[in-house]
Amino acid sequence: MLGLMQDRQLLVSGLLTHAEQYHPDVEIVSKTCEGDIVRSSYRVLSARVRQLSRALERMGVKPGDRVATLAWNTHRHMELYFAVSGIGAVLHTVNPRLFPEQIDYIVNHGGAKVLCFDITFGDLVASQRDRFDAVETLIALTDADHLGDMPEGTLAYEDVIRDEDAGAFDWPEFDEKTASALCYTSGTTGNPKGVLYSHRSTVLHSFLVCQADGLKLSNRDSTLLAVPLFHVNAWGIPYASAMCGAKLVLPGPQLDGKSLFELAKVERCTLSLGVPTVWLGFFQHLDADSSANAGDLCLERVVIGGSAPPRALIERFRKIGVEANQAWGMSETGPVATVCNLLARQETLPEKEQVDVLTLQGRGMYGVELRVVDDDGNVLDRDGVKSGDLQVRGPWVTSGYFRGEGGAVLDEDGWFSTGDVATINPDGFVRLTDRSKDVIKSGGEWISSIDLENAAMSHPSVQEAAVIARPHPKWQERPLLVVVRKTGADVSHEELIAHLEGLVAKWWLPDDTVFVDELPHTATGKLQKMKLREQFADYELP
Ligand code: ADP
Repeated sequence: MLGLMQDRQLLVSGLLTHAEQYHPDVEIVSKTCEGDIVRSSYRVLSARVRQLSRALERMGVKPGDRVATLAWNTHRHMELYFAVSGIGAVLHTVNPRLFPEQIDYIVNHGGAKVLCFDITFGDLVASQRDRFDAVETLIALTDADHLGDMPEGTLAYEDVIRDEDAGAFDWPEFDEKTASALCYTSGTTGNPKGVLYSHRSTVLHSFLVCQADGLKLSNRDSTLLAVPLFHVNAWGIPYASAMCGAKLVLPGPQLDGKSLFELAKVERCTLSLGVPTVWLGFFQHLDADSSANAGDLCLERVVIGGSAPPRALIERFRKIGVEANQAWGMSETGPVATVCNLLARQETLPEKEQVDVLTLQGRGMYGVELRVVDDDGNVLDRDGVKSGDLQVRGPWVTSGYFRGEGGAVLDEDGWFSTGDVATINPDGFVRLTDRSKDVIKSGGEWISSIDLENAAMSHPSVQEAAVIARPHPKWQERPLLVVVRKTGADVSHEELIAHLEGLVAKWWLPDDTVFVDELPHTATGKLQKMKLREQFADYELP
């Protein structure tokens, strides 16, 4: 017997109409690529979204068509989020920091008809446009005065929407399983593949972001979005903000420590989200500029994700009175799958033990099932010790990549293998020890590169550290430590080993350390281990 409740579809347009009705005056503050700051609200956002939706329809954008963006965090990019999905088309956010060849690949694979880009990417678009096979319309996210020397035929966004009616729009009703957005994996593990989100997955994921034990987003928050709108839908914050009425502060193209600090201060931000490298830059600014005082901030918490935050980073945030919660996920998981919040009984633990918990990747949230399996597919105990492939299943987990790339990705019971190696403890906290490709296999045992990197980064002279496997005649593989020293600091291999002793098992100690000026990162700020392995392909351990 079926229940008799209404079968209303969960659509992105519903988030926007809710925002306009319940929190019209909540602010959306945006730095722009032109350099000014635009202050608007959910009321203004909704009106402009309706104008844009009408303009897109007039241009011939039909349900299912892709509209691509190459853009920073601005109010106009936010408007595209709602306008494109609202009419049943698919928003394809492309990461502009990728190499041009990767951008060509992703834009063409996505098949967008319309490409919207920030003026900062005018040259990029001009040089690549002949390679964008399906793109018919170029829109620069600016007004006519700033069009400057954009590629020929480019329309100015403000012109495109200006004459459109901002009044009530009949948002189409369609199946909530309809595609809403398309993001490509950042390619640390091969060719980028498209993950196609649905309206349903997006709305359900927003509930998680607003949960008290999730990312706790609410209308009390002024949220500094330091994670780009092109990085897995900015972790779902734009949609969830519309759901709960959080104030949004969009930093435009400036994600450096100084700009973020100033913005957080002026806009009295309570929450910010970003990858570890962004926060390392933030503290570099605090250290370097004596006029930057953490006491001027209203920050209550930060969410760190995308890669493992060094323990020292979590500790530093706590020292300035900011709670640091990490979240784990991937493009394929919507993206948030686990969040690390202390359980009630852990809040009274001594500081060191609280930080011990906060260095874990967090607990599975309702909606994402998790398990760890060994090489033979046996499900491992949740004992916090046995590690294996982390698998996930749930309504905001992918069921396959766009255009069938990579073939079938689920096992017969619907589990998706993340490629991350993890343990789960009896309280359900996941601890990532590695990505399967990065694990170091020494004498049949696994060494966690993440743990070693964290331990190395707790040394005061170390800015960043990476550990990769190098072949070894006796042990098959042994760890090589690659370190970027802090500016002006000096530290030797021997000193680092002395520091690591006591932090990690003796047989984990790296056989050698190489000092470099910088480490290779992906466009989303992750260490590019693949590149680093290539860089040190000829390196022989002593
Ligand atoms: P890609 O899989 O191409 O690197 P994603 O942006 O989807 O692109 O990255 C997902 C991966 O990032 C995860 O599988 C995991 O390895 C890593 N990651 C994400 N969050 C965390 C975290 N909190 N701690 C450690 N690693 C993380």
